[in-house]
Amino acid sequence: MNDEWRQTACILCSLNCGIEVKLEGRRIARVHGNRRHVVSKGYACEKAQGLDYYQNSRDRLTTPSRRTGFHGEGFALGEALFDAVLKNRSGVLFTVDPYEETWKRVRTPEGRISVDIPELINELNSLRSEQPVHNPHFPFVLTAGDRRSTTANTAIRDPGWRPKDPHGSLRMNPQDAETLGVKPGGRVRITTQRASAEAVVEITTSMQPGHVTLPNGSGLWYPDREGQEFLHGVPPNELTDSAHRDWIAGTPFHKNVPARVKAITD
Ligand code: SF4
Repeated sequence: MNDEWRQTACILCSLNCGIEVKLEGRRIARVHGNRRHVVSKGYACEKAQGLDYYQNSRDRLTTPSRRTGFHGEGFALGEALFDAVLKNRSGVLFTVDPYEETWKRVRTPEGRISVDIPELINELNSLRSEQPVHNPHFPFVLTAGDRRSTTANTAIRDPGWRPKDPHGSLRMNPQDAETLGVKPGGRVRITTQRASAEAVVEITTSMQPGHVTLPNGSGLWYPDREGQEFLHGVPPNELTDSAHRDWIAGTPFHKNVPARVKAITD
């Protein structure tokens, strides 16, 4: 039995909230948000509360890994896979799971998944009368945590590994860029109800007017060649607000954050 609370981070989504866990042996007995974490400031959603379940549930899937030849019980199985990833630089087959196996896991009497969840049906019905919200103070919709080909949560810390997008650019439609007077590679200040940050702009027709995105896994301190630490990109979690969140899951909205953008001209 270990009575200490240990500091760590939740890795279940790109927000990477700071959490504290209480261990019983190697099991996570309790979880709460770390109030001293500079970004999440004590916030942790329900998913973090389920960490022990994800690691130890009797229903978790281990057979697909065993089909590839990995052996062991509990952590040993995961460690065997981890060791194989380290040893095999050209790749590792980590799962084999035929399609028909999936349906054996549906354990309802009729063998079907019911999508008739009353709370969700009510939500869907309410969309019929919902009108787009236009807030003149925050006219843009920011997706804070865009998945891009060069991002992988905060695992990639060295910006040198992202030669295509070293700044973690704010993507914007050409029409918006023209209205704001921003050129490719120009700098803007993006402000949300929670915070404000400076970003480098990438202009692309893949964005709709009024919609801007920032990548996930960005906004990390990393030393340059002289060893001096710099903040690279914008930490998207700082722009989101835990009070503006999904009422069912409790997760902050990070794909729909009201924002305003201004060009930096000096
Ligand atoms: S929002 Fe929830 S799932 Fe995402 S990192 Fe924070 S605690 Fe984990």
